[in-house]
Amino acid sequence: MPRLFVPICDNSIYAHLILTMKGRNLEIQVYGNPVLQQKTKAVDKITDEILQLIADLKVTMHEKEGLGLAANQVGISLAVIAVNPKGAEIDQEPFAVINPELVECSGQIEREEGCLSIPGISEVVARPTKVIVKGINEEGKPVQINAEGLLARVFMHEIDHINGVFFVNHLGKTRLELLQNQLKEITRNRKNTSTKTKRKTQ
Ligand SMILES: [Zn+2]
Repeated sequence: MPRLFVPICDNSIYAHLILTMKGRNLEIQVYGNPVLQQKTKAVDKITDEILQLIADLKVTMHEKEGLGLAANQVGISLAVIAVNPKGAEIDQEPFAVINPELVECSGQIEREEGCLSIPGISEVVARPTKVIVKGINEEGKPVQINAEGLLARVFMHEIDHINGVFFVNHLGKTRLELLQNQLKEITRNRKNTSTKTKRKTQ
C-alpha cells in the first residue's frame, strides 16, 4: 500500500488565505511551447499570486483529470506543482508543493505514462518505486514527503516538468524518433490555435 506523509496544517495565515482563494480552470500549455522546455524559477516568497496559482493548479488538475500538474503547464514559469493522491488510490486531498526537489529515490518500475501537455501519446517509462521529495507546503512550511508507487511516479513527472523535461525525454532514441511526427503535429496544432486566438482578440 502506498504511503504518504505530509504534516498536518496549522492555523497559519496561509492556511486561512488559501481557503478564500477561488481556483480557475486554466488552459493547458502543450508540447512546442517554450515555457515547458525552460527550467522554472524557484519561489522565494509566498504571495497572494502564489496562493492563487496553487488554487488554479488544483482546479485545473481536477477539471482535466490529471494526477498532477506543474505551474509551467498553465504557462507560469515557477517551481510549483500540485498532485492528486486520490488518483493514486491514496485517501488524501490534492495538495501543492512549492520548490519541490528530489531528495532520494530507490527501486525501478516500468509503467505506461501520459501527460496533459502531450495529448494522445502514452509510453512505458521506467521510474523509481519510492521517492523522498522536499519542498515548501501551502502553509509556507518546509515539508518532506515519502511517496511510493504511482504517486512516486507523479512526483518524478512533475519535478521533471519544472526542470523543463518531458516524460518522452526518458525514452530511447529510436522510440523518440518514432514519435516525432505526432509531436510535430501537437506543436503545429498549438500554433494554429494560438493564431486563431490572437485573431479573435484583435
Ligand atoms: Zn505532464
